[in-house]
Amino acid sequence: MADYKMSTKCVQAGYTPGNGEPRQIPIIQSTTFKYDTSEDMGKLFDLEEEGYFYSRLQNPTNDMVAAKIAALEGGSAAMLTSSGQAANFMALFNICECGSHIVASSSIYGGTFNLIAVTMAKMGITVTFVSPDCTENELNAAFQDNTRAVFGETIANPALTVLDIEKFAKAAHAHGVPLIVDNTFPTPVNCRPIEWGADIVTHSTTKYMDGHGAALGGVIVDSGKFDWMAHADKFPGLCTPDDSYHGITYAERFGMEGAFITKCTAQLMRDFGCMQSPQNAFILNLGLESLHVRMPRHVENGQAVAEFLEKHPKVTKVNYSGLKSDPYYEVAQKYLPNGGCGVVSFELEGGRPAAEVFMKHLKLAAIETHVADARTCCLNPATSTHRQMTEEQLIAAGVPAGLIRISCGLEDKEDLIADLSQALEAI
Ligand SMILES: *Cc1c(COP(=O)(O)O)cnc(C)c1O
Repeated sequence: MADYKMSTKCVQAGYTPGNGEPRQIPIIQSTTFKYDTSEDMGKLFDLEEEGYFYSRLQNPTNDMVAAKIAALEGGSAAMLTSSGQAANFMALFNICECGSHIVASSSIYGGTFNLIAVTMAKMGITVTFVSPDCTENELNAAFQDNTRAVFGETIANPALTVLDIEKFAKAAHAHGVPLIVDNTFPTPVNCRPIEWGADIVTHSTTKYMDGHGAALGGVIVDSGKFDWMAHADKFPGLCTPDDSYHGITYAERFGMEGAFITKCTAQLMRDFGCMQSPQNAFILNLGLESLHVRMPRHVENGQAVAEFLEKHPKVTKVNYSGLKSDPYYEVAQKYLPNGGCGVVSFELEGGRPAAEVFMKHLKLAAIETHVADARTCCLNPATSTHRQMTEEQLIAAGVPAGLIRISCGLEDKEDLIADLSQALEAI
């Protein structure tokens, strides 16, 4: 599959049926797997042979879908998780422990910000947040002796900033640690962070990958390119024997290509159990089969809506990296030459009261907290997700009261623009 183009991989990677086998990936709806002898099963427990014994750790359906996503991102190995939150937590915790430090872009998904800044802090893992627009010097200054990972989002949800992946990868590698990039919004169809130096890629597959608002999920993809052993003092979990696995040293036994995902599966998935159900993996795979067809349409609709809003007198500002006026236009041209995603945000003149009227008059665009699926949806953070905040707090958080986020679905762009237009007229 490695030689095929993106579209072909979206449709066919991860599973090639043999003679007389099902054309569609089978849903292995089984918690457990049968063996003839205890010795056979023992070899699996010792990681001496590959195979399945319990679906809390690994399931064949999930592995087929993970293999497809690894092929799409150009990685060496991948694993599915129950959600995007689980993917980001496990990707970080696979190399961080009490006493570790993370350098993270401040412009990331609120859930991930909370995970790193609040919940992981309770585990003794500290963080320094940097602006995605910081200079190389400012970025380098954020590192400490105990820094173990750098984290950012290709296109941040909801700020829509675009990460200069090469700048972050260079700084991470200069300090002997990997760069983890959450690539949820562009998907590998529009950006492959590994090609720009990222070492680990994560996704909330809940968004465009599923694309139909049907199945929660996440994925971790390893590039296989980070040399753990060259920085063995920083990564004892990968480079020294694991007592809970009969003294296996993952980086020695599975090499650069397999160590990260094998440890994350055998150790963290075993202990945390945030597994994606095989049913959800099957639904996710249906979404992936059309990802390369859907993403250009999301971009086309996002671009058309952004251009319409930019010209509208009641709109004071539009954030969309496909607009020439956007501060991230240049960096997006480099990393997202075919466009980014269908999510646009904009500010209404008249703040909170204007936003309330606008939202009330929408007919086609639904009010939802979700983003990135086939149906267009809108959110006014000030009156929903951020409603406890004062006007001043909202401005400080970068979500002024009149800010609207719209996730452009796969409908006809003229219908979307007509809906926005009539709701704007009502203000
Ligand atoms: C939604 C989202 C997440 C969290 O994913 P869930 O599947 O909801 O757990 C993480 N990162 C980004 C960029 C997201 O948009």
